[in-house]
Amino acid sequence: MDRGDLFIISAPSGAGKTTLCSMLLDSLDNLEFSVSHTTRSPRPHEVHGKDYFFVTEEEFERLIKEDAFLEWARVHENFYGTGRDQVLEKLSKGIDVVLDIDVQGARQVREKFPGAITIFILPPSWKVLEERLMARGSEDRERLKVRLQNALKEIEEVTNYHYTVVNDKLDLAFNQLKSIILAERQKTRRVLTSEIDLEALKPDPNSWFMA
Ligand code: ADP
Ligand code: 5GP
Repeated sequence: MDRGDLFIISAPSGAGKTTLCSMLLDSLDNLEFSVSHTTRSPRPHEVHGKDYFFVTEEEFERLIKEDAFLEWARVHENFYGTGRDQVLEKLSKGIDVVLDIDVQGARQVREKFPGAITIFILPPSWKVLEERLMARGSEDRERLKVRLQNALKEIEEVTNYHYTVVNDKLDLAFNQLKSIILAERQKTRRVLTSEIDLEALKPDPNSWFMA
């Protein structure tokens, strides 16, 4: 069995990454989300173990010392990290894994997994990004400002990613994102190692054709 592929998805906060990732995971088989650890407080609808593992700073530091993270970073005002074992186990079972991580984390993972496929989600405009963040209502004004200040720097990183999706109309962006995953799955290397029975492609030695 071939190893799964690793997909890294990054975006400035509010671009729609969580929304798109959740649609993607609902619509494709053999694709799983890596649940990160964070020291941020949960939002009202967020579930421990599904959206994030919500941990204290002390727990996070312990995990760093234990070398439990594939990557970790301070993003906005909190710590976020990807559990190494969780990701490696899924990949070794042939499952494709989606990492929803920031640009610093993406840089670290790219070094360890040069084959990772990187996707950047952009909002259609700065104005829309601000509106979406405000409408989501998950941050107070000060925290919103930090996220927007970081967004300026994060958007500059887009050129380091293999693919870009502009999330204007949700359905179109979703279809584009899904197409990227589907196209990667049709790479010859993958098809040859997982789907094709090469024996079935050989002609029967007794057939009229071989005589
Ligand atoms: P991120 O995970 O990138 O911070 P979210 O997925 O939480 O962003 O999206 C931010 C807000 O924008 C949410 O309230 C979400 O419902 C909304 N949203 C996402 N994509 C679109 C879209 N294409 N059109 C309109 N609103 C959107
Ligand atoms: P949020 O607080 O809005 O859920 O996420 C804030 C930012 O942290 C987003 O850019 C998200 O991609 C990033 N993030 C989430 N999990 C991780 C992680 O495990 N590692 C890193 N480096 N960033 C993460």
